Amino acid sequence: MGRYTGPVCRLCRREGVKLFLKSLRCDSPKCAIERREYAPGMHGEKKTKPTEYGKRLREKQKLKRYYGLYERQFRRMLDIASRSTGNTGDSLLSLLERRLDNVVHRLGFAGSRASARQLVGHGHIRVNGKKVTISSYLLKAGDSVTVKNRPKSLGAVRTNLEEARVTTPDFLTVIPGEIPEGKVLRLPEFGDCSLPIQAQLIIELCSR
Ligand code: SF4
Repeated sequence: MGRYTGPVCRLCRREGVKLFLKSLRCDSPKCAIERREYAPGMHGEKKTKPTEYGKRLREKQKLKRYYGLYERQFRRMLDIASRSTGNTGDSLLSLLERRLDNVVHRLGFAGSRASARQLVGHGHIRVNGKKVTISSYLLKAGDSVTVKNRPKSLGAVRTNLEEARVTTPDFLTVIPGEIPEGKVLRLPEFGDCSLPIQAQLIIELCSR
């Protein structure tokens, strides 16, 4: 199944949770979920009790939409997480938080993960001084994320840093300056993910 390309606010309403898929709009009264919490469509207002399978599926969809993943990318991450020592659900969330597009967004360099993917894909981002154009690139503790030293790249990131009301998570730090820099202080943990998610339900669904 491909990545959803329709109106993104529908996804939040379907999942019943703010997924922060749009930049400033998400914190404004224009946010669709603030205005109407129920799912889109004719029967959106109808409350039906979800099945056990439905509950697990919703958690998985929520996670995929939040991080903007295709099914194949999700499966790849799950595979890596299941081979790691420790809890698979926690490892999965930690891996997703380490993605370059997620880190660029959580540093406040981009208003949403979708714009972060664009910044990365268009070559505006440097990791340890080298250009990286792969959004799924996994960062390690100690890595440095900077912006290409060109007015266009710096302008976009500075505007986002000024406008964004992103709270930098504990595992990252922003060093403001001529060229803004972000540092990965440590590997992210389960609690560093800002999405209320029950990772265990996803693991149960996928291990059937
Ligand atoms: Fe979701 Fe943001 Fe749209 Fe609100 S504005 S419904 S949080 S994408």
